[in-house]
Amino acid sequence: MRPHVFVNVAMSADGKLSTKERRQVRISGETDFRRVDLIKSECDAIMVGIGTVLADDPSLTVKDALLKKKRLDEGRDEHPVRIVIDSRARTPVDADILHKGPGRRIIAVSGLAAPEKTAALSPYADIQMCGDEQVNLSALLDYLGTLGIRTLMVEGGGTLIGSLFAEGLVDELFTCIGNMIIGGADAPTPADGTGYIRETEFPSLVLRDMQRIDDGVLLHWSVQKKSDKS
Ligand code: NAP
Repeated sequence: MRPHVFVNVAMSADGKLSTKERRQVRISGETDFRRVDLIKSECDAIMVGIGTVLADDPSLTVKDALLKKKRLDEGRDEHPVRIVIDSRARTPVDADILHKGPGRRIIAVSGLAAPEKTAALSPYADIQMCGDEQVNLSALLDYLGTLGIRTLMVEGGGTLIGSLFAEGLVDELFTCIGNMIIGGADAPTPADGTGYIRETEFPSLVLRDMQRIDDGVLLHWSVQKKSDKS
């Protein structure tokens, strides 16, 4: 059984995830930071694309001590399984995601990954080969299901999220909209990649909730499955 997939992103009021140089910027505030830490602590695994690892060097650890303790009390690892989507095994061996906090890491690679690169990463992460060129995301989710991963949080970036939407693999979306304009036609947005041409191809969403958060707004959407629309 595939995990339930939810995407969480923070974007500016003009729909940008970061600057045109792909430099990480603070978009949301303290309340949203705590909300994200909470939902992270509740999931089995958390996923990012290699673009995010190279740009932001995130650790994807749970930060709050009480939330970490709660996971341990429940018999879970302190942090969710951390997963990088990385066809060519470009994850730096000193990346924070491989070293900060205990727990399992998975780097999903494709047939394009050089064996010496996967060998260098293998002391720090399980290497999962999935796909010939890009990582085959639906096959990877099937594999994650076999590991007992039931809930998967996706933190970005826009290229990975765009592919997950295009393949109908997203169940829920949380969008925190911050109170700034970042601008730039080339700045990342929540669903980059090739995009859609016909309106019938657009994934459609159902608004579940909205709330004011810090100086912005949080939107919670569920994704309408194609089979639900007819
Ligand atoms: P990304 O989505 O993190 O990673 C994309 C890369 O993943 C691709 O270029 C590709 O590289 C690899 N990949 C492998 N298989 C794939 C597949 N099937 N579909 C899609 N990607 C696949 O990178 P990004 O779009 O450049 O996003 C990074 C930016 O987003 C940074 O600026 C970061 O700061 C920002 N960000 C913002 C937030 C937020 O909430 N505001 C969150 C996260 C990131 P290979 O072909 O080399 O494998």
